[in-house]
Amino acid sequence: MAFDIQKIRADFPILSRKVNGYPLVYLDNAATSQKPQAVIDSIVYYYSNYNANIHRGVHSLSQEATDAYEMARKTIQEHFGIKNAHETIFTSGTTHGINIVASGFTNLLKKGDEIIVSAMEHHSNIVPWQMLCERSGTILKVIPMNENGTLQFSAYEKLLSEKTKLVFVNHVSNALGTINPIEEIIAKAHEKGAAVLIDGAQACSHLKPDLQKLDADFYVTSAHKMYGPTGIGLLFMKEKWGNILPPYQGGGEMIKEVTFEKTTYACLPHKFEAGTPNIAGGIAFGAAIDYLNTINFNEIETYETELLAYATQSLLEIDGLKIYGTGPSKTSVISFNLEGIHPYDIGTIVDKLGIAVRTGHHCAQPIMEYYKIPGTVRASFSFYNTKEEVDLLVKAVKKAQLMLG
Ligand SMILES: *Cc1c(COP(=O)(O)O)cnc(C)c1O
Repeated sequence: MAFDIQKIRADFPILSRKVNGYPLVYLDNAATSQKPQAVIDSIVYYYSNYNANIHRGVHSLSQEATDAYEMARKTIQEHFGIKNAHETIFTSGTTHGINIVASGFTNLLKKGDEIIVSAMEHHSNIVPWQMLCERSGTILKVIPMNENGTLQFSAYEKLLSEKTKLVFVNHVSNALGTINPIEEIIAKAHEKGAAVLIDGAQACSHLKPDLQKLDADFYVTSAHKMYGPTGIGLLFMKEKWGNILPPYQGGGEMIKEVTFEKTTYACLPHKFEAGTPNIAGGIAFGAAIDYLNTINFNEIETYETELLAYATQSLLEIDGLKIYGTGPSKTSVISFNLEGIHPYDIGTIVDKLGIAVRTGHHCAQPIMEYYKIPGTVRASFSFYNTKEEVDLLVKAVKKAQLMLG
């Protein structure tokens, strides 16, 4: 083991609590991750010591808060390898970021233009684009999936044409754990002159993308899935798009000059950051990234890959257990079902034993439709989970099978 797991677990206060009389086994990290003390402290410290509105005040507190918020932006920019600080836009999360882009394209598309989504997206990377299609008369095309939960790349290449204006796929599927070949997806789209948005919500707790190298036009993610707080996220957009896209919301902070005749908009990133932002959240997002980098992403990847292999092997020893998402390139997410048993019933029983897993469609109903299932049980692992916890999960699932079978 490359790093000290007990020391890491001690950084997350919630991991030492009990649920239903049992030590908590938290395996719902794909829905949201737990927060290290450093992140919690940064929020408490902000509200206890320098809470003030930013960017507007001349007073000292406002200056301190502005400096900390802008410092966090810098931390995020550097972590993601973004060229310019002003291409690093704070949002309330992935959903917000996608809506900013989808809304912004309304007048840039015309009837008959095409946009491409994949069959394994979260609803938040489907619905805003369907709404865009309704407004603009654009046609939505879907990259189909293989049985093992990977995308059909050759079908994607066939969908691309001069009509394609935009491609949007997730970096990692939240329901299957599949890591998509986004480098190739981006390169192929760019050959046709189409822009690409990558939904990184599920990727950034496991991988460290280098956005300059990746060359996506847009990349969105949520802090709460990478050990930061809820209500804050990143929208990266290339400067070029920042100048082309209109603002999403009007209000304070996003203007240069307002008169009743005409308003001119502020430059990036403020053009897309109307209103008082989640200041504490932005600062704590920076703290989460600082924390992650003390552990180091190579070690996180190595540890989680080992944990995934162990969990996959252990779960497959259960009779009648089927795993969805068995492609060669995966993060530590296991979606499964037991033959003849509803996923909800398994989730309920393992919860009685202190184990948190998610059951249902995971906001990805098209995937469930593809497999003709009502949903799955999803166990999603973080670097703070252990093999002992995997053993407890396996034991609990076996118990559920006995009770329900
Ligand atoms: C969680 C998730 C989203 C939505 O993120 P929010 O934080 O709810 O806005 C989008 N896509 C994927 C792949 C996700 O896992």
